[in-house]
Amino acid sequence: MPEGDTIYRTARTLHGVLAGRVVDEFWSPMAGPSAGAAASGVVGSTVESVTARGKHVVMAFTNGWTLRSHMRMKGSWHVYREGSRWRLPRHQARVVLRAGPVIAVCFSAPDIELVRDDAVEATLARLGPDLLAEVVDVDEAVRRLRSLGDTEIGVAIMVQSAFAGVGNVYKSETLFACRVNPWTRVADLDDDVLTRIVETASMLMRRNLGGNERRTSSPLDQRPLVVYDRARQPCRRCGTPIRRQVQGEQARSTYWCPRCQAR
Ligand SMILES: [Zn+2]
Repeated sequence: MPEGDTIYRTARTLHGVLAGRVVDEFWSPMAGPSAGAAASGVVGSTVESVTARGKHVVMAFTNGWTLRSHMRMKGSWHVYREGSRWRLPRHQARVVLRAGPVIAVCFSAPDIELVRDDAVEATLARLGPDLLAEVVDVDEAVRRLRSLGDTEIGVAIMVQSAFAGVGNVYKSETLFACRVNPWTRVADLDDDVLTRIVETASMLMRRNLGGNERRTSSPLDQRPLVVYDRARQPCRRCGTPIRRQVQGEQARSTYWCPRCQAR
């Protein structure tokens, strides 16, 4: 699943090539009469902005409609020049938008809607503070995290209504950096630790907005990630084999060092 930093870079790229351009064509197989009606209004209007809100890509048009897309596990946005070859098959396209020479294609994203601006805001209002916002509301993020008391921190850290942007990679990397065991219940962590978790996740994602390979380790380290996808390899800090176990109802992989992150 794309993490917040990937979505941020996607939105920035789309904004760079589409903002200010008039939409010449808009196609989507999305169901619903409003989508079809709106699509016809979108053609001829201008792309106002493309922004990231947590893991949502939000494309606003000057006619008062907004395209919201969430990538879930497999979705992605691609940008092509007219006439160039697509890197994924056409039947996977969920949205195709042409504006001048630019073609933006959203592939495989299961959660897409084209709605009025205010309806999008209603959906996005459920998100917690955005960890990639210019100013992160850390206190609010901690308060929302705190409300998940009985949940294990390795699950809670990805609940987007607590704070938005963290996926599976940053989960493991953040909890290692903070020396927190992923199976600890939120209720058993004090506010200082929760604050550190929020600030660390934000800092690690922010470091990766440049577009190079994702890195959470020091620049001198050969391997870019510290624990993620390193099961049975030695911990960089203490040499203990890194463990992997699935966690939560969604059975997402969690990686941790049983010694550095002892309960
Ligand atoms: Zn260790």
